[in-house]
Amino acid sequence: MKITGKKIELFQPDFILFWVSLLSSTLISALSFIYFSFIWAFIASALLIILVGGAFMMGRLLLRSRKQKQYEEKKIEKFIENAHDAVIMYDKDFRIFVWNQAAGEIFKLKKEDIIGQTISPEKVSISSFKYLTQTIFPSLAPSINKKSAPGVYPQILDITFIDPSLELAVITDRILDDNSDIIGFIKIIKNKTREINLLRSKSEFITIAAHQLRTPLTAVHWIFETFIKNESLSSSDKELVYNGLSASIRLLKIVNDLLDVSKIELGKFGYVFTEININEFLDKLLQNANILAKKYNVFLYFEQPKTPIIIYGDPQKLSIAFSNLLDNAIKYNVKNGQVVVKVELYPSRPYIQVSIKDTGLGMSKNVLDKLFSKFFRGENVIKEQTEGSGLGLYITKNIILRHGGNISVESVVGRGSTFYIVLPADPTLIPPKEVAME
Ligand code: ADP
Repeated sequence: MKITGKKIELFQPDFILFWVSLLSSTLISALSFIYFSFIWAFIASALLIILVGGAFMMGRLLLRSRKQKQYEEKKIEKFIENAHDAVIMYDKDFRIFVWNQAAGEIFKLKKEDIIGQTISPEKVSISSFKYLTQTIFPSLAPSINKKSAPGVYPQILDITFIDPSLELAVITDRILDDNSDIIGFIKIIKNKTREINLLRSKSEFITIAAHQLRTPLTAVHWIFETFIKNESLSSSDKELVYNGLSASIRLLKIVNDLLDVSKIELGKFGYVFTEININEFLDKLLQNANILAKKYNVFLYFEQPKTPIIIYGDPQKLSIAFSNLLDNAIKYNVKNGQVVVKVELYPSRPYIQVSIKDTGLGMSKNVLDKLFSKFFRGENVIKEQTEGSGLGLYITKNIILRHGGNISVESVVGRGSTFYIVLPADPTLIPPKEVAME
């Protein structure tokens, strides 16, 4: 008899019931032939044979499911062992019981030296255990960036070590028993050092290139600006100079956007937080945006609460973010269209919401899906507006996230769009560190 090509091991513990029933049935059957009439003994033996057959089938089933379970466990073990990311499991006392190859590569510790070891905060002073201890107890790490709310599982955070340089993305979850009691923890750790270094060198290259371009471009822009003021230019020359001036403004905007993006990605945009009266702040930005609004024949409205709202933010960075949104709401509007900016304070939560509603082109789902990606320009505007770098909303979202806020959008094609910007009114909700959006 076979199970997946192998002989049944009749002496496995799964067949205990079979053996017990076989022996006892043989005995009972023999006794019944001695003590009862032949016919009754025969019936009893037949019933006992059925019983033994059942016990045998049960043994087979037990063996098969046990083997299946072992096979699944081996498969999981193999998967964990060869996983690209480090997998570490430890019990409630921080005693490590699972450690894969990738964990060994990151922390430079061998499986045989670490399995069964209890990691306590004091181990941070042992150099070979330092990074592992700081990863298990992130409050001991030099620099962390939490990406999930406290106490919410899975916990997600990034840890940066400096010497030697190591960038880790760590996901921690609880291991629960059948009663939902915590029996341990699992950590999945991705080594992002190479990825981050590559991004860093790419961003550094863009920073240098954009800096190099900005100086000659500023000179060209200044020449056109000087020329356009010249009264003696013929109308055809004036048109040429005007085109040159617009092109230099556009190029400067692209170069400046590129510089901002590379600084954001290097985590060096350099935020300076201070108190901001958001009513006055937006009022000023709307006055500046009026010049563009007049050019596009668009009307701007500002709805604000009577009492001033104070938030904590970087006014220079927030004015980049809100100007991008206002410029888009004006540029991608229709003639005689409107832009309504509204500020509200959430009554029950320490957040404010600014909405920027336009009556413009609107966006399809295709556009909405990629809206905040770098260099994205929607098909809704490319035909109408050739200008634009597709970097504005990427920069805007990064600025808002850096303030501990969020941005979302609702839009209907041909009807218009509303961008909602939520910002904390409580400075403790601002993240401690500058990190680029992924
Ligand atoms: P840019 O304006 O330079 O193209 P942005 O990053 O600011 O870059 O915007 C990306 C794209 O999002 C735009 O090209 C456009 O397709 C779409 N978009 C942004 N704001 C609006 C808006 N208010 N109405 C319609 N489309 C918009």
